[in-house]
Amino acid sequence: MIREQIEQVRENIEKACKRAGRDPGEVTLIAVSKTKPSSMVAEAFEAGALDFGENKVQEILAKSPVLPDSIHWHMIGHLQRNKVKQVIPHVCLIHSVDSVRLARQIEEDAAALNLTVSILLEVNVADEESKFGFSKEEVLPALLEISSFSHVNVKGLMTIAPFVDNSEDNRKHFKELNHLLVDIKQKNIDNVTMDVLSMGMTGDYQVAIEEGATMIRVGTGIFGGR
Ligand SMILES: *Cc1c(COP(=O)(O)O)cnc(C)c1O
Repeated sequence: MIREQIEQVRENIEKACKRAGRDPGEVTLIAVSKTKPSSMVAEAFEAGALDFGENKVQEILAKSPVLPDSIHWHMIGHLQRNKVKQVIPHVCLIHSVDSVRLARQIEEDAAALNLTVSILLEVNVADEESKFGFSKEEVLPALLEISSFSHVNVKGLMTIAPFVDNSEDNRKHFKELNHLLVDIKQKNIDNVTMDVLSMGMTGDYQVAIEEGATMIRVGTGIFGGR
């Protein structure tokens, strides 16, 4: 079941890449395993998934010790500053950095642990009240501040697009985020590379890929409903 779902998602990734003239190797599938047991993560891993996304520190701390070391864990949910120290040794990328204060905390804890942490800045593309993240206008000033943090590398941008019935409605947001990424990349800011665009979930990942996503985060489409 999980295996078939992953194969289906991979097939859709290939088709979307073909439509966009992109190489499927540019797109990393993150299987979002939040609320699902470790046994289901193990099943997905055996079916070839290597990257897993969680939105709670507690779940990463519970699952990572009982699953293969070769798994890449991605923190994709709102992160409280008092949990940063616990989670950073276990994750390859924090997608959900939504304030300079949080980035500063990551810098401090990473320095204390002698680590360098890769992060994305979360952008609230549609300025939704209910969502965390920087507004598009806030991203550049935040980056200029964060670029002075030597234990933090900003790899790109992430967004959770609005919940819509028709995924085409999110195309404009994905396009805008890609433009923002390219604009910032051209500025060659220290500690900022801007090669990662984390956007697209079960309902809209195919459109996100057509608009340049390099990481898609798929939960329901792999593990079923929550
Ligand atoms: C839950 C979640 C996902 C996956 O959502 P699905 O619609 O189940 O694919 C992706 N990104 C974030 C940040 C999430 O919290």
